[in-house]
Amino acid sequence: MVVKKKKVEKEIVEAVDESFSDDERVGKTKEDSKITKLDDLPGIGPVTIEKLREAHFEDLMSIAVASAGVLSDVAGITEATANKAIAAARDAMELGFISAEEVSNKRKSITKITIGSTEVDKLIGGGIESQGITECFGEFGSGKSQIAMQLAVNVQLPVDQGGLDGYCVFIDTENTFRPERIKQIAEARGLDPEKVMKKIMVARAFTSDHQMLLAEKISDLIKDKKLPVKLIIMDSMMGLFRSEYAGRGTLATRQQKLNKHIHTLQKLADLHNIAIYITNQVMSRPDIFFGNPTAAIGGHILHHACQFRIYLRKGKAGKRIARLIDSPYLPEGEAIFKVTEKGIEDA
Ligand code: ADP
Ligand code: MG
Repeated sequence: MVVKKKKVEKEIVEAVDESFSDDERVGKTKEDSKITKLDDLPGIGPVTIEKLREAHFEDLMSIAVASAGVLSDVAGITEATANKAIAAARDAMELGFISAEEVSNKRKSITKITIGSTEVDKLIGGGIESQGITECFGEFGSGKSQIAMQLAVNVQLPVDQGGLDGYCVFIDTENTFRPERIKQIAEARGLDPEKVMKKIMVARAFTSDHQMLLAEKISDLIKDKKLPVKLIIMDSMMGLFRSEYAGRGTLATRQQKLNKHIHTLQKLADLHNIAIYITNQVMSRPDIFFGNPTAAIGGHILHHACQFRIYLRKGKAGKRIARLIDSPYLPEGEAIFKVTEKGIEDA
C-alpha cells in the first residue's frame, strides 16, 4: 500500500514537472509569468490548493516564506512538490537580490520615535524605527503597555522632539488601553490631551481573526481617510493566538496565521514608513533566559520579523531594566528607566 501510494505520488510529481513551462523553469518574475495568486502556482493542483487554504496558506507570501517540510505536512504533498511551489512563489514575490546601495537608500528614510527615556533610546539606537517591528517582551507589569501608551503620545511630537508628527493606531487585545493614562502622559509633555486623543485610533480585538482583520483595515485609514499613521501598536501580539491555539496539533495553523499577520504589519511598515510596536507577555524564567524565553510564544516566525527585541524586567524601587536582544547591528546591552505618573522616564 505504502509503496503504491509513493508510486502514485511520484507520478504526480513527474506529471507536475512536465507542466512547468520554460518560463517557469528559468524563474521568470510576476510580470512575465503572471503569478499573482495561489491558483497560478505551477506544479500545484486544485486539490492541493484547497488543502493549503485550509491550513491558512492563503497568499503567495505565505508560501514563499514557508518551509518545504511544513508545506508538505499540511498539504499532503511531497517535499519536492512543496519546494517547487515555494520557488515559484518566491519568484512571483520577487524575493530576490537588491544591491546594497538600494538597501542603504531605503534605510535612509527610516525615522525613529523616542521611547521617553534617553537611556533606552540610546540602547536601541535613538528610538523605535519605522519600516520595522519592535517587540517588547516581559512579565506582567513590566511596563510593556506603559511604553505603548507613551509611544502613542510621542509619535505625535514634532520630529525635532523625537516624534514623527503622526497618528497612532492602537490595537488592544487585553483591554488595558486607558485614555486617562494617555491624558496624563500628554499633559506631562505639555501637550493638549484632547488633541492627542484625537490622533490615537483605538480598536479592541476579541479574537485572533479579529486582530488580523483590524490590521488589514489599517490601510483604509491611511488610503481612504488619509490619516498620517506613523505608529501601529499591537498590545499584545500573541495573547489571543496563544489562548486560541493551545494544543500542539494546532501549532502549524497558528504559525501560518501569525505569518500572514506579521506580513500584513510588515507591509504597512514598508509601504508607509510606519513603526510597529508589539508586546509579548512571558513568564519570568531566569533559568531559560539565556536560551530564548520567547521561543515558545511567537516562535521563529515572530523572532525573525523583529528588528528590535527588548526584554523588560522589574528592578528595585519601581525601576525597570530594558535589555536589547539579538539586534542585527547594535550591541546587546541594558538600560534602566522608570514608570512614573508622567510616563516613561530616565531612572
Ligand atoms: P505590562 O508589561 O503587563 O503591560 P504595564 O505596562 O501595564 O505592564 O505596567 C504596569 C505598571 O506600570 C504598574 O504596575 C505600575 O508600576 C506602572 N504604572 C502604571 N500607571 C502608572 C502611573 N499612573 N504612575 C506610576 N506608575 C504607573
Ligand atoms: Mg500590558
